[in-house]
Amino acid sequence: MSESIFSKIIAGTIPADKIYEDEFCIAINDIAPQAPVHVLIIPKKPIEKLADAQKDDQALMGHLMLVAGQLSRELGVEEAFRLIVNNGAGAGQTVFHLHLHLVAGKRFEEQAMV
Ligand code: 5GP
Repeated sequence: MSESIFSKIIAGTIPADKIYEDEFCIAINDIAPQAPVHVLIIPKKPIEKLADAQKDDQALMGHLMLVAGQLSRELGVEEAFRLIVNNGAGAGQTVFHLHLHLVAGKRFEEQAMV
């Protein structure tokens, strides 16, 4: 896999508006936000897409979810947010380095998933 833009952001060779970092992941504000809160939670391990995650990644996947919950509280949106993972170009994935979109601060249609 060639190095993704997110690997360059993790390495610090490309700047980003980083709001969180730990041993396993970073969180940055999306460069083209779709809502008032639009954060990307990105594992440091360069998994191309969710379907490529393996049993070994179980703890990491859980960690990303917990970080999403923690950031939602810190951002004051814990009562209403969506977590979105686009898997594959056909689903709208454009950066092939797994990431969770944490989206909040807009009115969501109750019935619609997207
Ligand atoms: P995807 O479509 O792959 O699920 O989401 C990729 C997201 O990354 C998009 O929402 C896009 O705006 C964001 N993005 C792409 N390049 C950059 C960048 O260089 N910096 C930041 N902060 N976000 C980016």
